[in-house]
Amino acid sequence: MTDVDEASRAAVRRAYAHFAEVVPALKIMLATYFGAIGDNLETALALPVAGLHVDLVRAPDQLDAIVATARRDLVVSLGVVDGRNVWRSNLAALLDQLAPMVKKLGRDRVQIAPSCSLLHVPIDIELETDLDPNLKTWLAFSVQKIKELSILGKALAGYAAEVADELALSEDAVVTRETSPEIHNANVAGRMAAIDDSMRRRRSAFTQRADVQRVAFALPMFPTTTIGSFPQTVDVRNARAAHARGALNDAQYEQLLKAETARTVQWQEDIGLDVLVHGEFERNDMVQYFAEQLLGFAFTKHGWVQSYGSRYVRPPILFGDVSQPKPMTVEWWRYAQSLTKKPVKAMLTGPVTILNWSFVRDDISRSETCRQIALAIRDEVIDLEAAGATMIQIDEAALREGLPLRKSQWRNYLDWAVDSFRVCSSAVADGTQIHTHMCYSEFNEIIDAIAAMDADVISIETSRSKMELLEAFKSYKYVNEIGPGVYDIHSPRIPAAAEIKQLIVLARQRVSDRQLWINPDCGLKTRRWEEVRPALINMVAAARELRAEP
Ligand code: GLN
Ligand code: ZN
Repeated sequence: MTDVDEASRAAVRRAYAHFAEVVPALKIMLATYFGAIGDNLETALALPVAGLHVDLVRAPDQLDAIVATARRDLVVSLGVVDGRNVWRSNLAALLDQLAPMVKKLGRDRVQIAPSCSLLHVPIDIELETDLDPNLKTWLAFSVQKIKELSILGKALAGYAAEVADELALSEDAVVTRETSPEIHNANVAGRMAAIDDSMRRRRSAFTQRADVQRVAFALPMFPTTTIGSFPQTVDVRNARAAHARGALNDAQYEQLLKAETARTVQWQEDIGLDVLVHGEFERNDMVQYFAEQLLGFAFTKHGWVQSYGSRYVRPPILFGDVSQPKPMTVEWWRYAQSLTKKPVKAMLTGPVTILNWSFVRDDISRSETCRQIALAIRDEVIDLEAAGATMIQIDEAALREGLPLRKSQWRNYLDWAVDSFRVCSSAVADGTQIHTHMCYSEFNEIIDAIAAMDADVISIETSRSKMELLEAFKSYKYVNEIGPGVYDIHSPRIPAAAEIKQLIVLARQRVSDRQLWINPDCGLKTRRWEEVRPALINMVAAARELRAEP
């Protein structure tokens, strides 16, 4: 349920009136989900539909108002099993809540359902033979959720005795989960309680840090860099698969990744990029790679869910308190840095993105989970700095997509999202440069949050909009450094140097030269070397030409 304006409400009324007129016998169940119907309730209840489905997982309090004002014959579908997350329901507890509702509405008017479609959860937990057996009993995928509904249905219909075992089992599972030592880590709790303002603040303000960094790095005007990943070639992916199968041993796999990394570092140096990356060849995915090394996460083998269009992802399951048992990226960074005198940016995925691209706990809030991840990433940042890294990029690719549907809830989300970023990024010295990257470009509405993150350098997607999207940064008077993407990596097209130069000229109209970095829109992992090579050569040429101009 999102914010709906008057014109759209009128359109909805017209459409449903039309349905009722042309197919009067059709019984429509109007399904609402992802939160409360809220200020759309009057509109919804006035529609000529037979039933209304409501999300009682995210908005359990909305039922009373609905029951009080709904037509006496309106069927209400109670969305009580979480269709958006993977946890097993406490059926006994649900039954206690549902019984009075059914009584109030009358049996004929009640249906029970998942809170939303089951598109967002994997199909069947029984396929997961490698999961920790305890954890497995806490989970319910689509097949299990449908079973939960059938058990609830039977119990509500007066056959509770027949499903008594199932009810007890589900309650047991939930209680075991609540008290499990696998979930709760006293050390994490202590650290969470100890987060204070000094942990959310860099030692000095940006302008002072920038002075220190300018001297330390001595970068040319319009420094060139990339977003992190280089092509994940068929060879790299085959090697990963062979390693997973056991056909390549650890040493062989590492040797191969090292060779790929070394070639990529050397190539970046050869073409004259100013700030290098190691290429991320060792990473299967920007979230999974970290989740696999952090405590508190589990993984499925078959838990694919649709993300958008025809893309499928297999999100990690964040089930317990999160912590970083040991450094996750230091060795690869150290290796890459050992090969060059130019700075190699270390590459991390940020807490908000790890949160938004995982299934997360429902026993603590998202903001709390996010802060736990932030502490773990903070530890990694500290480890990298101690190892000698002077530039550290923390990607927040999914920060914007996590915005709540209701605008009134944006502030709250952005507050804790920004807070988490600051917690993970603020432990470093003034001379250590924090970069962040975001995969989108619509910044107008959230520019204050972006500024509050206080990253020294942010790289964003802008090439397709011809830099118009930089307007937000201009009118906001954004002072930190910024790399608006000048090469659209989403297309196989190779931009010419002149075209890239033109984009930089447009960028210079909106942000000052002192702020500008030159980089592609996003990581290069999906592109082929044949595309990346000439494009980056052109990008470096464009920057050089501009530097040479009076
Ligand atoms: N560092 C990551 C990469 O270059 C960032 C990817 C992303 O933003 N989606 O692949
Ligand atoms: Zn990106």
